[in-house]
Amino acid sequence: MEKFIRWENLSKVNEKYFKKFYTELKEIEKTGLYTMGKNVEKLENDIASYIGTKYAIACGNALDGLTLAIKSLNIPEGSEIIVPSNTFYASVLAILRNNMLPIFCEPDIDTFNITAESIEKLITNKTKAILVVHLYGNMCDMDKINELARKNNLYVIEDSAQAFGASYKGKMAGNLSDAGVFSFFPTKNLGGIGDAGMVVTNNVNIYNYIKLARNYGGEKYNYQIQGINSRMDEIQAIFLKEKLKDIETINNLKTRNANLYLQNIKNKQIILPTTTIESKNVYYIFPIRCKKRDELKEYLLENGVESLIHYPIALNKMKVFEKMNRSFKIAEEISDTELSLPCSASHSVEEIKKIVSLINKFN
Ligand SMILES: *Cc1c(COP(=O)(O)O)cnc(C)c1O
Repeated sequence: MEKFIRWENLSKVNEKYFKKFYTELKEIEKTGLYTMGKNVEKLENDIASYIGTKYAIACGNALDGLTLAIKSLNIPEGSEIIVPSNTFYASVLAILRNNMLPIFCEPDIDTFNITAESIEKLITNKTKAILVVHLYGNMCDMDKINELARKNNLYVIEDSAQAFGASYKGKMAGNLSDAGVFSFFPTKNLGGIGDAGMVVTNNVNIYNYIKLARNYGGEKYNYQIQGINSRMDEIQAIFLKEKLKDIETINNLKTRNANLYLQNIKNKQIILPTTTIESKNVYYIFPIRCKKRDELKEYLLENGVESLIHYPIALNKMKVFEKMNRSFKIAEEISDTELSLPCSASHSVEEIKKIVSLINKFN
């Protein structure tokens, strides 16, 4: 057991993928193809088949993937898109980049996710889409949300950046809407060794649009649309296709650790997270809540355990949204009480048990 338990230890998680990585890196040394080559194509195919979608389109990061997914819907600027009030900033920024209006939806405080009931109250005649986020690796209740979307003629996009490998009623995150977006930022469950992202879809029009738009918007050198530069590097694809083979193991280790917390934390001051019914959570983050969160965080640190907060400032309280001048009680409650416990594939049972016993002694 490590003396100091870090929240994450990526060199430990990733060490087993590097050997094959270096071997294949030798090949691109020979071919001289550094971006959007055969490794990127292979990763796209592997991910489409793992997720179960017809198409997967690689891009530079999930923010670009979300931005392009929204753009591909061809809805007018100024449209309203419903998005969780407690998500990571990127989900909202993707809407803003399209000159559309993010409408913050309060989540359910136990699952941390938005629900059909909370979304429905926000629908107006300007609403064109719902950007759901499977936050912390926990799925949204997609049947209800999709039914609501169908009734109101709305698109649904899944920000699945935190939910690679999660599923709902047997279907993978990303394959339950018009388009799903993944991030391979190093800390994510399928994390690379730099930035990368992927959009998955069954819709040929979305596919065709993003395929063009991610690489300036056309064939070299004859451009059809205003795209962006959001290519994926071969280096990332080589690493990720190797790590993808092991994603079930990674997710199972994280889930084992989460289950140890769920079964053994017995402290009245701690509220444990709830997984959405009939779904598989991949615990990108293991979020607990505690009124004395800051004291608990300090106490854990004094006892050799690092914990983080996702996210310490509610979106509506960020400077970028100061003009909004509105409060979002649940998002604020979460940012005031949430604490993310170490829950990596690198953590041993022994380490998690040590954290559990520290938490059980906290008063
Ligand atoms: C990480 C993350 C993103 C952005 O991913 P990048 O690849 O860093 O652009 C978007 N949404 C959520 C919910 C995330 O956690």
